[in-house]
Amino acid sequence: MRPVVLCFSGLDPSGGAGLQADIEAIASCGAHAAIVATALTIQDSQQVYGFELVNPDLMRQQAEKVLADLPVAAIKLGMLGSAQAVQTIFEVLAAYPHIPVIMDPVLAANSGGKLADDSLRESILNVLPRIRVLTPNSIEARRLSACNDLSTAVELLNQAPYLWVKGGHEAGTHIINTLYKNSCRIHESVQPRLEGEYHGSGCTLASALAAFIALGHDMATACQLAEKYTYHALQHADQPHQNGQRIPRRIFQPDLS
Ligand code: PLP
Repeated sequence: MRPVVLCFSGLDPSGGAGLQADIEAIASCGAHAAIVATALTIQDSQQVYGFELVNPDLMRQQAEKVLADLPVAAIKLGMLGSAQAVQTIFEVLAAYPHIPVIMDPVLAANSGGKLADDSLRESILNVLPRIRVLTPNSIEARRLSACNDLSTAVELLNQAPYLWVKGGHEAGTHIINTLYKNSCRIHESVQPRLEGEYHGSGCTLASALAAFIALGHDMATACQLAEKYTYHALQHADQPHQNGQRIPRRIFQPDLS
């Protein structure tokens, strides 16, 4: 069987972000996605209108069954929503210390709407040592560390062995993503900035990264492959509404001729 990535993610009914992004990206990158649903959100391509979190005990039961049954090679954490969810998930993961954890620290949507309560930030800091790679954008890195200076923020988040800071929200014609290992910069990529706003780009990148880790690539290679895949998905994105964000095209039609 293809390696399995177990994702903890929320439903975005527009199909741009969340668990649908995870399934599409992971399958396209050659692994199998199994999903523990953490939340139902109300949103479209333009904004978030609300969300409801799944009862942590229901999440625990979903996760325990899948972990006992499928050959899970990586775990990807997306929208978790609350400290209670984090606590429950890491209690379950304690029985699987060998499985790498990829965490996309989802605090808000790209459109700005909140996707977590105020308890989440601190609980993420507490579990950093169990995370193999944390994938914040620069805004999330500053928020999580409560520090405006990005290089100090990187130092403060260094309890996770790898930190991949995405620079899409910084100014400039190019986007710079930087991979750190124990606060030392080990890889940097520079890509021309694409026009427009994208819904679910962070989910796509972190899920592709999880898939490439599950397939056995080292961290720097997995980051490069995930960037390449995501850039392609963004280049071919659909725009459902002129005021809305674009939805990455993560799957391509098979040639059946
Ligand atoms: N997870 C869910 C369920 C979401 O709805 C969103 C954004 O809307 C995200 C994660 C984060 O999305 P992005 O990849 O745009 O940061």
